[in-house]
Amino acid sequence: MSLATPAAAPRFDASAQPLSTDASAVRRSLVGLSREELADALGEIGVPERQRRMRVNQLWHWLYLRGATSFDAMTNMGKELRAALDDKFAIARPEIVSEQISVDGTRKWLMRFPAQGADRPGPTAGRPVDVETVYIPEEGRGTLCVSSQVGCTLNCTFCHTGTQKLVRNLTPGEIVSQILVARERIGDFPDLATPQGAIVPTEGRLVSNIVMMGMGEPLYNFENVRDALLIASDGEGLSLSKRRITLSTSGVVPGIFRTGEEIGCMLAISLHAVRDDLRDEIVPINRKWPIAELLDACRAYPGLSNARRITFEYVMLEGINDSLAEAKELVRLLKGIPAKINLIPFNPWPGSPYQCSDWDQIERFAEVVNRAGYASPIRTPRGRDIFAACGQLKSASERLKKREREAAPALAAEG
Ligand code: SAH
Ligand code: SF4
Repeated sequence: MSLATPAAAPRFDASAQPLSTDASAVRRSLVGLSREELADALGEIGVPERQRRMRVNQLWHWLYLRGATSFDAMTNMGKELRAALDDKFAIARPEIVSEQISVDGTRKWLMRFPAQGADRPGPTAGRPVDVETVYIPEEGRGTLCVSSQVGCTLNCTFCHTGTQKLVRNLTPGEIVSQILVARERIGDFPDLATPQGAIVPTEGRLVSNIVMMGMGEPLYNFENVRDALLIASDGEGLSLSKRRITLSTSGVVPGIFRTGEEIGCMLAISLHAVRDDLRDEIVPINRKWPIAELLDACRAYPGLSNARRITFEYVMLEGINDSLAEAKELVRLLKGIPAKINLIPFNPWPGSPYQCSDWDQIERFAEVVNRAGYASPIRTPRGRDIFAACGQLKSASERLKKREREAAPALAAEG
């Protein structure tokens, strides 16, 4: 059976209507700031130093545990302080340009973040950017697939995001905001009700897992991704366990050790080929860091053990990388590394140059891997009808042309 056939029509598509707009883009958002940065922000509006720690804890509680969207809601802070905060700062949420819900309950949001202001100058200051975030409900868990960049500098040949040039890195606030928006839209904050008809797990938290598998290469935006994930895993806020946060990389070797040391989350590697000549072609970063170097970095991953395995992702491309000889080679290559192997049926996108492997072939491939003692779940494609499945994400944002970039500060000031 070919998996390349699109599924039934989406249940709901609001892509034509903006669902919310963000009027507070000009004030600096507090979302995504570290505790130290929050303390500095409080200092800017005259909060005495001895009070700052307590105020930071209060802000943190409202921002991340309660999901407050206005300073007004922060009832354990005095009116004057709330007004002073509101005067200078915002609790920005991106504009939700569209929300699509798949027949299988997967949800995809297209979020628009404002232009980077004068306080955060960048090559694309002056133009808002769009990114996609996907929520995948399953029995007992809800996984949020978060983007780290607008577009990608890499161009893996099977990936839709790879056809969109890098526009810019997302800030920690923009990465964290994707989690806040998703929780808000599915009613995952204590004061919010789950929207009627939403498909969510029957028990446990609605967003229980985070995967950095949306648009972009997270290790090419290391500091911002790290800062965002440290907020996501902070025990007094979003409180997601680091074991339930997975960062996926195409193989940026120098970032792998740092991920273990500085974030401490789970690691997934987009392997996809067992020979350098093929991987050079389909995951071109391999020309810089070939398979042997990549696997050495995996062996040295801090905290690696049988209880904390690395996930190796392997996209099933018909006639390209799906032979049983390749399955055997995969097992041989990973020998000695505590690993899980995740077989991903290729998700097609308009103009994609591959076919997904035949289902029987995927099962035969999985059997070889299983027999060698590896768990090798075949990832069920989710949300294909709304282009929310792995590798299908892309937005229309473009990088400013050189001439536009030179004029960017002026544009930012207008914005
Ligand atoms: N840039 C990172 C994370 C984002 S991609 C990385 O490459 O790891 C998340 C996963 O989806 C990666 O394993 C990626 O290789 C895979 N993927 C990309 N395009 C795909 C497609 N069309 N079908 C199935 N999986 C795809
Ligand atoms: Fe970028 Fe990952 Fe897509 Fe490769 S697979 S182009 S690294 S997003």
